[in-house]
Amino acid sequence: MAEPPHEHPASDTPGPTPTPGPAARPLNFIEQIIEQDIAHARWGLTGTTGLGTPRGVHTRFPPEPNGYLHIGHAKSICLNYSLAKKYHGRFNLRFDDTNPSKEEQRYVDGIKADVSWLTEPLGGGFAHGPHAGGLFLASSYFEQMEEFAKELIKKGKAYACQLTAEEVAARRGTPAVPATSPYRDRPPEESMRLFREMKAGKHPDGSLTLRARIDLASPNFNLRDPVMYRVLHAHHHSTADKWCIYPMYDWAHGIEDSLEQITHSICTLEFENHRPLYDWFIDAINEGRTPDGSGPWGTTIWHSRQVEFAKLQLTYTVLSKRNLLKMVQTGAVAGWDDPRMPTLCGIRRRGVPPEAIHLLCEDVGVTKFDSVIDIARFENATRTVLNKSAPRAMCVLDPLRVVIDNWPAGRVEDVEFVINPEDPSSGKRTLPFTGELFIEREDFMPEPSKGFHRLAPGAQVRLRWAYFITCTGFETGPDGKVNLVRCTYDPATRGGNAPPGADALTNKKVKGTLHWISAHHTITGHVRLFDRLFNAEAPGERTGNWADDLTPDSIKVCTGCKLDPILADAPVGQAFQFERLGYFTIDPDSRPGALLLNRTITLKESTPEKPKAAVRTYTPAEAAHELKIKQDKLPALIDAAGPAGFAERNPHHLTLDEVRALRQWLKANPPAKG
Ligand code: ATP
Ligand code: MG
Repeated sequence: MAEPPHEHPASDTPGPTPTPGPAARPLNFIEQIIEQDIAHARWGLTGTTGLGTPRGVHTRFPPEPNGYLHIGHAKSICLNYSLAKKYHGRFNLRFDDTNPSKEEQRYVDGIKADVSWLTEPLGGGFAHGPHAGGLFLASSYFEQMEEFAKELIKKGKAYACQLTAEEVAARRGTPAVPATSPYRDRPPEESMRLFREMKAGKHPDGSLTLRARIDLASPNFNLRDPVMYRVLHAHHHSTADKWCIYPMYDWAHGIEDSLEQITHSICTLEFENHRPLYDWFIDAINEGRTPDGSGPWGTTIWHSRQVEFAKLQLTYTVLSKRNLLKMVQTGAVAGWDDPRMPTLCGIRRRGVPPEAIHLLCEDVGVTKFDSVIDIARFENATRTVLNKSAPRAMCVLDPLRVVIDNWPAGRVEDVEFVINPEDPSSGKRTLPFTGELFIEREDFMPEPSKGFHRLAPGAQVRLRWAYFITCTGFETGPDGKVNLVRCTYDPATRGGNAPPGADALTNKKVKGTLHWISAHHTITGHVRLFDRLFNAEAPGERTGNWADDLTPDSIKVCTGCKLDPILADAPVGQAFQFERLGYFTIDPDSRPGALLLNRTITLKESTPEKPKAAVRTYTPAEAAHELKIKQDKLPALIDAAGPAGFAERNPHHLTLDEVRALRQWLKANPPAKG
C-alpha cells in the first residue's frame, strides 16, 4: 500500500530550490529531418517566416476514436504540437474515424478535451492559439477518397476482389512464394461496376474488397495488393448510415494528410513498413498529374513525409486502448477515468498537471529505438511540477485527538503559514490553533520503539508552524485504543521555532515535526490513496495475462479525515501539498459536505524496502552470560546504566548495541567485589 508519512526533517524556513534553466539540447532526429527540409525549401518551407506564408511545419495528431487517450498518445500530441510551435507552423487534431464498429461519439468528445488540456499550457492547441490548425474528421474526406479510388481503378492500379478475408490470408504466400488473386487482371470497367455496387449496398459485409494493384511478390507484405476498401454495413457516429464501404487505414491516412497539407506525418515505429505503401498511394494518385494541372489527371496532390519514432512505454503500466477497455469492462478499474489508469482523463482526475507530462516528454526525448521508461521518471516529473505549484495545506488522515492542558480555555490563535516555500509570490496565510487538535494516529506511540522521534509520553515534538508540545499522558477507550493524548505547549516556541537563547529545554532540538489541525476548525472528508495498478515491472510478461499482475487493493479509502478548512472552497482539480503526506487533489465526485480527495503522489519516491539486516538480540540469560554477571543482577544494571530511555526498558531481549553499552558501563563502574 502507499507509504505512510515519513519522519520529516524539520526545516524551519525552507527556501525555494533553484529551477534549472532550459538546457540547450541537441536536435532530435525529427528536428534534424525538418531542418533539412527547411534547408531544401521542401513544400516551400522557409522556417523563418511567420505562419502560413509560404508556410510553416504542419503536423497533426490522428487518433482513432475507439477509446480514451493514454499517456503514450500524450507523447505524440506533445511532439506534434511542439514541432508546429518550434517551426512556426500549425497543429491539427484529426479523428481517424474509418472504423465505425469500434468508434463512439463519447470518445471523440473525450479526446478533444484531453488534447486541449494537454496543449493549453503549451500555448493553445488545435482550436485556438497561434498554432491552431483546426479539427478534422477523416470521414469528411470519404467522397474525395472515393474519387481517388475510382481514379486508381481507371489507371489500372486498383481492382475489385471477391476473395474473402480468409481466402486472402490463405493466398498470402511466403517470402519466396507470391500471393495470388484470380481477380487481379479483371478489366477496370468491371472493377468500377463492382466498386459502385459495393458503395450502393448491393454486397454483404466481407464479400468484396477494393485492392491496390501493386506487387503480389513484394518482400514487404504490405505491398501485396493491400485492401483499400471493405464492405461494412455499420452505423457511423458522424456520417450515420450514409456509407457502407469504409477505407482501410493505409489508403485513408496519406490522403487525409495530403488534403490537410501536413508536412510531417509523424507516427510510431510499427508503421515504418507501411511507409512504402503510404508513398505508393500518393504517387499512384499523382501519376498523370502535374503541378500546373496540365496533366491528364489534373493537379498534383500534396505529398506529406511520414516519419516514425519509438512509442512511449512505461514500466508497471499497460497501454493500448484495447487493454484499457478490457480493464474497464472486467471491473479491474472503476472506469476510463479511474485515477489509477494511465489514461489522460485518469491522470487528470488523479491531479497530475499537464506540465508534468511535458516534462516527462522532454526528459525521455524522441528516438527511433523502442525502450521502456521507468515510471518513477513520470512520478518524479509530477513531484517537480507540483512542488512548484501546489499550495501547502494541513490534513490528518487518521485523526487522534490531542488536548493541550495549559492552553488558555477558548483561545484561538492564528498561526502563520507559508503557502508555498517554492513560490515566494504565494505569500502567507493563517491557520487557527487551539487547545484541542488532531494529529496523525501513527505519530503517537504509547510505548515508542527505538528511533521513534514523534510523540510519546514525555517526548517533545514541533507542531508545524505552531508550537512545541510535550506529551504528559494519554487515555484509552474501551477498546484499549488510545483516544486522547494530553500535552502541554511551550509558549516560547511560537511559530514552531526554538527561540534563540531560551532555556536549555526549549533550545533543545526537537527531532519530530508533526502536522495537525485544530479540532474546532476542520472539515471532514474522504481521501483516496493509490498504489500502482500493477505490481510487475512488465505486466503480463510472467503469465501472458496482465490481469495476473494487478496489485490487490491498489486503492485505499481513508474516511473521517480532518481537512484544512481552506479546502471547503477549493475547486475540483485544485492541487495541494498536504504537509508530510504528499500531493492531493479534489475529485470531481466531491460534494459540499462530502469532500473527496485523491492522493496524486507521495512526497518522496518510495524506495522498495531493503530486507533489514537481522538484529542480533540477547535473552536476559544470554546477556548476563555475555556481561559475565549473574542474571538476577541484570535489571539493576539496566536501571543504573541505561542511555536515555534505557531505564524503562523491559529486559526481555537486549540488542547487541545495548549489551555493548552495558559492557562499557561495567568497565567504567566495576561491580564491588563480593
Ligand atoms: P493504442 O494501440 O494504444 O490504442 P493506437 O496507435 O491504436 O494506440 P491511435 O488512436 O491510432 O492509437 O493513435 C493516434 C496516434 O498516437 C498515432 O499516431 C500513434 O502512433 C500514436 N501513439 C499511440 N500509442 C503511442 C505511444 N505509446 N507512444 C507514442 N505515440 C503513440
Ligand atoms: Mg489502434
